[in-house]
Amino acid sequence: MALWITDECINCDVCEPECPNQAISMGAEIYEIDPRRCTECVGHFPEPQCVQVCPVSCIPINPSYVESRVQLLEKFEHLQAASGAGAGSAAGASPA
Ligand code: SF4
Ligand code: SF4
Repeated sequence: MALWITDECINCDVCEPECPNQAISMGAEIYEIDPRRCTECVGHFPEPQCVQVCPVSCIPINPSYVESRVQLLEKFEHLQAASGAGAGSAAGASPA
């Protein structure tokens, strides 16, 4: 599943640079997560990095985007290919 940011977000800017998929950006009022780019950090890290750093714990799972770990890994691979990183850099990633 992708994650999402609730209106408890205080716009602290901490999560945005931590996202390995560039899924987080400033929205109209608070930061937002693009569910097409969020893999729950699968392929990059064992835990969602944004959740780890958020000081107000306002990043739950998005119930509108239910995805299996296999689907998240496929999304990661598509993002890698689209970014030009290629399969080489993905090969060493361990989807914990
Ligand atoms: S869980 Fe990972 S991929 Fe998803 S928004 Fe947070 S840092 Fe980005
Ligand atoms: S870390 Fe949390 S509070 Fe800070 S901008 Fe991200 S979602 Fe908002």
